[in-house]
Amino acid sequence: MSLNLELSSCVRASAIASGCTKCIDICPTKAIEFAPHLPAFTPEMCVECGGCVGVCPTSAFSLSNFSTINFSFSHFESPTVLSCKTNIPCLSLFSAEELVSLALGSEQQLNLDIGHCSSCEIASTLYPQIMHNVQEANFILSTFSTKKIDTANLQIEPSDKESAGGTRRDFLNLLKPESLARQKAMFDEQVASDDLKIFEFDANIISKIKNKNIPDKRKLLFAILKREPKPQNYETIESVDISFTSQKYIDEKCTNCQMCHRICPTGALGSVSNFSQINFDSMLCVKCHLCHDVCEPDAIHIQPTFELREFFEPSQRLLAKFDIKRCVECGNQFTCKDNETTCQRCQTEEDEATQLHQNARKLEESK
Ligand code: SF4
Ligand code: SF4
Ligand code: SF4
Repeated sequence: MSLNLELSSCVRASAIASGCTKCIDICPTKAIEFAPHLPAFTPEMCVECGGCVGVCPTSAFSLSNFSTINFSFSHFESPTVLSCKTNIPCLSLFSAEELVSLALGSEQQLNLDIGHCSSCEIASTLYPQIMHNVQEANFILSTFSTKKIDTANLQIEPSDKESAGGTRRDFLNLLKPESLARQKAMFDEQVASDDLKIFEFDANIISKIKNKNIPDKRKLLFAILKREPKPQNYETIESVDISFTSQKYIDEKCTNCQMCHRICPTGALGSVSNFSQINFDSMLCVKCHLCHDVCEPDAIHIQPTFELREFFEPSQRLLAKFDIKRCVECGNQFTCKDNETTCQRCQTEEDEATQLHQNARKLEESK
């Protein structure tokens, strides 16, 4: 298993203003650092717990041999206790969003084996996150389902593999030729693995950043929620109680600079062809905070509450509407706020020309 980073998915690759530090904050071995603005990591220091995979809002980090999505589907077929001693690298790999999907998608109660956390050397940053994710997932589940996640102090040991399910097959898979080739590639990679792995910013990454991508974990949640019966009443929760999506509003400070919807990695924020609106689809939002980080006038905000209706009846909301006119000077379209007839650029040019003219006159008069 090895850690991978898809740099184009990291919000820091989209904007220098991004303040996301989630992967660095969670890493128990300090394997991740910013070099200077983008994440980089030292493979030798990485213990492949997947903590960064779990917290990254845009799924930029992944583990080469473990997909939480594939695991979820095999879990739905044959439910098992999730345990770091048998079938998963670490419970921190699963975000609150994925725990909700896992709990809803299975007929049986979802059990997490936290019995090893107290003696685990890397639990310092991971255990609080695991428990936070479980509490958040249970709280969200409680608003529309009877399903619940249990954190039993089971202390499953590797010898319990058979009863935990799935792991014998995983072990046999390790012996397949393609798996051996992968391990050889991993070995080659590890020859220089105590060096900091810096990810280059190239044209390929720039073109990928422009694509809007919904992370697989959100697609899974969509699919699972579609199978759920709609609640009779929808609850509204505090925004601080949900980490993986949000509802937003835009205030009058907005200049329609278009930064937020151009940069939003998932397409949750969008506009129309003449840029006269900003629309928002909260079920596409991954709460990465990028739109807030890039908004110069600080005009976009998270609503204090989140309506769980969005889980079952996703809607697109109009956050802002603008009057778009053609500038009488240059002919370009601009956002008109107070019945202006010229765009900001032409207005600035005109103001500067007036200023220069006045200065010249004063100089002439003083002679
Ligand atoms: S958590 Fe994800 S989006 Fe945030 S800095 Fe790390 S890789 Fe980038
Ligand atoms: S909300 Fe902010 S970033 Fe978005 S268009 Fe308005 S000013 Fe620009
Ligand atoms: S709307 Fe903002 S917080 Fe949500 S995914 Fe887009 S950029 Fe991130």
